Amino acid sequence: MSAKNFLEEIIEADLKSGKYQRIVTRFPPEPNGYLHIGHAKSIHLNFGLADKYGGITNLRFDDTNPTTEETEYVESIKRDIRWLGYEWENEFYASDYFEKLYEFAERLIRKGLAYVDHSSSEEIAAMKGTPTTPGMESPYRNRTVEENLELFRKMRAGVFPEGACVLRAKIDMASPNMHMRDPVMYRIKYESHHRTGNTWCIYPMYDFAHGQCDSLEGITHSICTMEFEVHRPLYEWFIEKLEIFPSRQYEFARLNLSYTVLSKRKLLQLVQEGHVSGWDDPRMPTLAGLRRRGYTPEAIREFCERIGVARRDNLVDVGLLEFCIREDLNRRALRRMVVLSPLKLILTNYPEGQVEWLPVENNPEDPAAGTREIPFSRELFIEQEDFMEEPPKGFLRLAPGRTVRLKSAYVIRCDDVVKDDRGNIIAIKASYFPETRSGSDSTVKVKSTLHWVSAAHAVPVRVMLYDRLFKVENPAASEEPLGSLINPNSLLVVERAMAEPDLRTASLGVHYQFLRKGYFVLDPSSTPDLPVFNRTVTLKDHWAAKTSEH
Ligand code: ATP
Ligand code: MG
Repeated sequence: MSAKNFLEEIIEADLKSGKYQRIVTRFPPEPNGYLHIGHAKSIHLNFGLADKYGGITNLRFDDTNPTTEETEYVESIKRDIRWLGYEWENEFYASDYFEKLYEFAERLIRKGLAYVDHSSSEEIAAMKGTPTTPGMESPYRNRTVEENLELFRKMRAGVFPEGACVLRAKIDMASPNMHMRDPVMYRIKYESHHRTGNTWCIYPMYDFAHGQCDSLEGITHSICTMEFEVHRPLYEWFIEKLEIFPSRQYEFARLNLSYTVLSKRKLLQLVQEGHVSGWDDPRMPTLAGLRRRGYTPEAIREFCERIGVARRDNLVDVGLLEFCIREDLNRRALRRMVVLSPLKLILTNYPEGQVEWLPVENNPEDPAAGTREIPFSRELFIEQEDFMEEPPKGFLRLAPGRTVRLKSAYVIRCDDVVKDDRGNIIAIKASYFPETRSGSDSTVKVKSTLHWVSAAHAVPVRVMLYDRLFKVENPAASEEPLGSLINPNSLLVVERAMAEPDLRTASLGVHYQFLRKGYFVLDPSSTPDLPVFNRTVTLKDHWAAKTSEH
């Protein structure tokens, strides 16, 4: 068991003291983009804490801003949370509470704690002061309660144009915390909302909505990222003045991942500028992209567990995410043979027309995965890079006169090289040694084992090889335009790789290890005639200190 994190300490103390019988957390996405791996951290935290302490978690769409929210995003968010393995207790929308929030606003007006301000947004900004100088009070600050109530009702009724006035909390224009200098609670917007349509023309600001929604749902621990720490006094002020259920806010450091951006604005930019094919492009750090790439929910949850929660910002090495998926896929992936760059290998002493079906284990890590049979014949494909006519020192694979083993088959020796008119190698002639069949007690020693497929049985497939989307470690911190930071080699398409026949019927969602090449999954763009595979991750971390893959 890892050490308890600070939130677990807090919750345990709260339960022990009897402050709460049951904890209630929430995950509050704004439906203006797809969920990404940073959200997974927050989901894992909120749902994980409730699971651990027998509480519940609500899914609450933070849809207070009518301009940017779309139903498509709502659906994708729900799908992704379920895919990660979590189920919410209630599905709520901040917009469900618009009427209640309106009442709360009137309550503050009646207490003399909110006023309608007819200053323009520029004037309000100018009067805000600076962190070191106090702000100035608005000339509208001391309107009577009656006047404020009447004006606020008119705001709601659509009497004023956009920008004519706002409702502000009356707190302290000299507060050292800028968020306490009479923050705006409501603004006028003549915009249709994805759920409430045209019912409203005034919309609450985040600060006035979030805490009140938490309170209405009886959220005990409202967990958010560090940038909201400075909003906490305001969160508490509204709750205290409204005398409603005292939800408490706790902050943790957001996830930053190397070679990745995790801001929805920037991810949207990648989509809109066409750097990727969409929100679910397998290079995107979105859950939809990771899923399509072949990441599993188990690996993502393991990653969230390993990064832990703290209050200090840091940049997590994307290598850790890759480590987690390798570990998981090593356990579950079905082993298959696929030759990415085929080179014909002709076994001159193997009878023409003969086919042997050789048994091969599906997963040496999991005997329950069983075996399959693959065809062996006179003409095979091996990887171009597994042969060198003039091998440098250290190259242990096939070369003239050398012997190697073909995986689960026979030891072969290269006898001859066939070239075209221009001197390109087009085939290798070799002999096989019948007594070395895998499983026999042959004692022939070779330095290397190659993967292969039978040429007559091979299934042509398209293979998508991905690399990091960005060429710099911390693209989020760079001043350069996002487009200029993209790794030009982030996608390599292999149009005609040759796969063993079993992969003709590959299924979506099944994870494969292509021997020596990495972990792969079928892409939804596959057709019966052309299976398309995405490489999830290579077998080893090729970014770590260079070690030979073979
Ligand atoms: P973005 O910066 O990508 O626009 P956001 O915070 O505006 O993110 P929301 O939809 O409001 O996105 O986020 C929902 C929840 O997920 C919030 O509680 C937020 O704090 C959390 N969250 C967002 N990004 C991260 C991250 N990188 N690491 C951890 N939690 C995050
Ligand atoms: Mg947000």
